[in-house]
Amino acid sequence: MPRVCPRCEAIEAQHVATAPNAGVWQIYICQQCFFTWRTTEPASVTEPEHYPTVFRVRQAEIHTAGVLPPITPPRVEIEPFREPDR
Ligand SMILES: [Zn+2]
Repeated sequence: MPRVCPRCEAIEAQHVATAPNAGVWQIYICQQCFFTWRTTEPASVTEPEHYPTVFRVRQAEIHTAGVLPPITPPRVEIEPFREPDR
């Protein structure tokens, strides 16, 4: 049965793991936004209708989202590797 991602509501969540102790919990990951959750977490984490609106992600904006925190450019220019003179 496909799982709906609580954060972006994609129907592409994949099963990742099952608890070794009698399958007490399952872990799923969303293939769109990479949100990951365990089935024993509260409904505010596992159910789209209870997931906090402020943390929702729109699927159309995932691919244009920036990298946070931004990756700063190097402070010094790195010279290419050269074999030592023999
Ligand atoms: Zn998602």
